[in-house]
Amino acid sequence: MTSLDALHPRLPSPLQELVDDRFARSGVRLLLKRDDLIHPDLIGNKWRKLAPNLTAAAGRTVLTFGGAYSNHLRATAAAGRLLGLPTIGVVRGQELAGRPLNPSLARCAADGMRLHFVDRSTYRRKTEPDTQAAILRATDAEDAYVVPEGGSNDRAVHGCQGLGAELRGHADLVALACGTGGTLAGLAAGLASGQRVLGIPVLKGGFLTDDISALQHRAFGGPQGTWTLDDRFHFGGYARTTPELESFAADFEQRHGVPVERLYVAKLLYGLVTLAAEGAFPRGTTIAAVITGRPFP
Ligand SMILES: *Cc1c(COP(=O)(O)O)cnc(C)c1O
Repeated sequence: MTSLDALHPRLPSPLQELVDDRFARSGVRLLLKRDDLIHPDLIGNKWRKLAPNLTAAAGRTVLTFGGAYSNHLRATAAAGRLLGLPTIGVVRGQELAGRPLNPSLARCAADGMRLHFVDRSTYRRKTEPDTQAAILRATDAEDAYVVPEGGSNDRAVHGCQGLGAELRGHADLVALACGTGGTLAGLAAGLASGQRVLGIPVLKGGFLTDDISALQHRAFGGPQGTWTLDDRFHFGGYARTTPELESFAADFEQRHGVPVERLYVAKLLYGLVTLAAEGAFPRGTTIAAVITGRPFP
């Protein structure tokens, strides 16, 4: 297996100031933490979360889970190709099995990932020992190293502490979009005291506060850092969008020449612009917005 260092990640990731009058107007400084530039294929928080797991896998087959458009599946598949590791992706939706692959899954397959489709009820029960054992048997991967959906296990959370450490002393508030919340759980633990974190959930449901607390409890033994969530910017749920969000993202790209990933980053930036307009940030605040990924071509 090739070592992770051989992939030359760009770490610490760049921190860039962005001049935008929607923030300047309220006396707020906006920095972009460009985790999207860490590695061309192992992008953003996916690098931070996967790296410690790939090390722990020590050459074994890596098996993980995701939906048909999962960034996590794509990053795992890319890692497999780059490191010479076999990977298996367990995909939600038996009905997808007989159809042509969407571009995201086609990329996974091209990177050598073996795809295994399961029906939605099996997928929901995937963390139950019996169901997981059956999946491992069915994929002939009983000795595989299993990474949970979204990649957010203890090792991943510890990996994201590094993101916080890189931002120590650079911002009053660090903002990021959240899926499983694993990145936030680690980031908050890595910051200095006095720095705050704002999470923008992209899924609908309001369960994330408990999930993040549980992730921190498991990884660190208790709560870490100062963080809050603002649940107003999910736009209906995962992968849901509106013409307003789409035109916001396109306009942001045009103003700043920064590619805006649509599932997460667009909702984060929209949320921050809205909050700035509402006067939610005191004058003199420096915000670091974490660019956790980039658009899939
Ligand atoms: C996966 C992903 C996230 C979500 O990270 P979590 O740790 O699951 O909260 C955020 N942004 C992008 C671009 C992602 O691909």
